Amino acid sequence: MRRRIVAGNWKMNGSLELARSLVGEVREGIVELDNGAEVVIIPPALYVASVQQLLNGQARVGVQNIAAWDAGAYTGEISGQMAVDVGCEFAIVGHSERRELFGESDAVIAEKVDRGIAAGLKIILCVGETLAQREAGLAVEVVSAQLREALKSVSGEQWKQVVVAYEPVWAIGTGKTATSEDAQAVHQAIRSLLGELGAPEQEITLLYGGSVKPDNASELFAQPDIDGGLIGGASLKAPDFLAICKAI
Ligand code: 13P
Repeated sequence: MRRRIVAGNWKMNGSLELARSLVGEVREGIVELDNGAEVVIIPPALYVASVQQLLNGQARVGVQNIAAWDAGAYTGEISGQMAVDVGCEFAIVGHSERRELFGESDAVIAEKVDRGIAAGLKIILCVGETLAQREAGLAVEVVSAQLREALKSVSGEQWKQVVVAYEPVWAIGTGKTATSEDAQAVHQAIRSLLGELGAPEQEITLLYGGSVKPDNASELFAQPDIDGGLIGGASLKAPDFLAICKAI
């Protein structure tokens, strides 16, 4: 059985006040979840400790990014080891916003994957194509190239620390979701590529991300190769996030 995960990526949103109200509500809802879904909250790094405390062990916590280095003179950066030190279990690496807005290359992302794994984190590696790439019929090709590069030095037991999130760039924050068939097709291709890369592909959790909402979550999560979701906007509203967690 693969782990089924719903992760809420708050991005650069929220405040201590929001953390208190949102996490309080989410924590109460999670107690009633009986579908085996693992819930992960991924707030801005400054709020990790507070969220952790507010969750009181009811869900796991992660960071949205880690540095490509372990320690040293890298002003403004946070290492995977630091994330582990404060109790994080997960780190998102290679989100399209980081690729686009911060110029993160596949090589940098590969470095972060390796450092994060060495630190003991589970990596939620994001991959996805732009609208132009999809329209040119290149979705699987683009995603495969991103995966090959990011995961090139992962082997053996390290695969247990890898989760892949397929997030088509054109579906993020736009209200446009991939159809469940299109999402499933890419997820299936990802799983098969993971096998080629030497992973125990049937054991790897694959998440879909991009405008997941309560009304489309069930259909997406019912696909054979979609094991959960990476949720942006809807993770900032407790009732929506909980409804998505229930849809697993
Ligand atoms: P939205 O759910 O807001 O489209 O964001 C998806 C995402 O980027 C999660 O990492």
